[in-house]
Amino acid sequence: MAQKDSGVLAQAVQAVEANPYEMFKTQVRLAGKKLGLSPDLLAIIETPERVLEVAIPVRMDDGHIEVFTGYRVQHSSVRGPCKGGIRYHPAVTVDEVKALAGWMTLKCAVVDIPFGGGKGGIVCDPTKLSEGELERLTRRYTAMILPLIGPNRDIPAPDVNTTAKIMNWFMDTATALRGEPMYAIVTGKDVAVGGARGRREATGRGVMIVTQEVLARLGKRVEGIRVAVQGFGNVGSVAALLLHQSGAKVVGVADISGGLYNPNGLNIPELLEYVEHSPKRLIAGYSAPGVSAIPAEEVLTLDVDVLVPAALEGQITERNAGQIKAKIIVEGANGPTTPEADVILEERGRIVVPDILANAGGVVVSYFEWVQNLQYFYWDETETNVKLAQIMRRAFNDVWTLAQEKRVSLRIAAQILALSRVAEAIRLRGIFP
Ligand code: NAD
Repeated sequence: MAQKDSGVLAQAVQAVEANPYEMFKTQVRLAGKKLGLSPDLLAIIETPERVLEVAIPVRMDDGHIEVFTGYRVQHSSVRGPCKGGIRYHPAVTVDEVKALAGWMTLKCAVVDIPFGGGKGGIVCDPTKLSEGELERLTRRYTAMILPLIGPNRDIPAPDVNTTAKIMNWFMDTATALRGEPMYAIVTGKDVAVGGARGRREATGRGVMIVTQEVLARLGKRVEGIRVAVQGFGNVGSVAALLLHQSGAKVVGVADISGGLYNPNGLNIPELLEYVEHSPKRLIAGYSAPGVSAIPAEEVLTLDVDVLVPAALEGQITERNAGQIKAKIIVEGANGPTTPEADVILEERGRIVVPDILANAGGVVVSYFEWVQNLQYFYWDETETNVKLAQIMRRAFNDVWTLAQEKRVSLRIAAQILALSRVAEAIRLRGIFP
């Protein structure tokens, strides 16, 4: 990135870090400027189309009623129905949901699937809710946002703290209220009730595919490449396993319970087996010859070729970006790198494959789930994986080529590509009335 842009970004950082929606708007403005987008188009893209706030009364197990606040934001439907997950978290705010909805618009546009962006959230602490309370909360929230959503309007999915079981309840409630099967109203369901085979592994698989692609562009092979993975949940564990199976040496992994390091490469299948049988599904307590326990944060600064942050947002910061040794960072998580750290990584010549490209495998297979639900025609896992790989490789190539042409980072290139596709759709459709 040019120094001038780094400066603008760095200045914007402090103002935006506290507010993700401000951060989204800043990113859109910066990429829009590079693209030469008119202020009119920028104003449309910066602002969500619809913001719905709902009050959700839930009868708790002890008989009293608690009223939760929920949101559904539809950022853009210009390229297709809105698409994006639902988050259950005490820190959910309307600005966070607006930002996440906007990033979904960009993510769907980068991989060029026919969806816009949406996102939902409920301000709650799911760890404090019983299963019955969680189910009543989910069903009432579904009923309250139902007038705005639907297979051709807006299709939710899982996000932080929402699972296939919650998606099953969501679909069942919509079906009961509409009086007809509503499989295509939500993705991320269990396979027995319309979920797509391969959905669970899709995000980690996408991470593996873009890692292969970036290595190939640098004239390197996956075999023998040293990798560290932060986060050993859905995204991190699958990415680690698939990279291991492709011949990479996964030398470090970490989860909330700590980190593990083996300079000769960890036995990832054995570690997964261990985690599956450990009560909290954590890596703590695993031991094997050559493996040492390290503090979780050390996994980010290990001497590796590729770092995959696949835990939470805001992990690579101004504080640790200077110590990151990996030449390539593949963002499995959403927003793992703060804008300030991004500037540092860029100045140090690190290649960052940005989240809206690197972790798009999940939404791509959600798209396949929706297509299968609409057609009542289900694919096997091989078909899913082949089509996922095609889309991820094409998207990577589009972003890489644009970055070379415009001499910008992959993050800026991905944002420019996404914005140009959204802007083109707005221009072609025109403004009603
Ligand atoms: P998950 O809950 O299954 O796993 C998260 C992992 O991160 C866990 O292993 C947890 O122990 C670990 N972790 C949390 N804090 C940590 C810390 N401080 N240090 C090290 N490890 C820590 O979640 P997930 O579905 O794998 O999602 C991970 C990230 O990927 C999130 O940012 C999510 O938004 C993003 N993402 C997920 C998908 C998907 O399909 N699951 C799709 C796109 C993006």
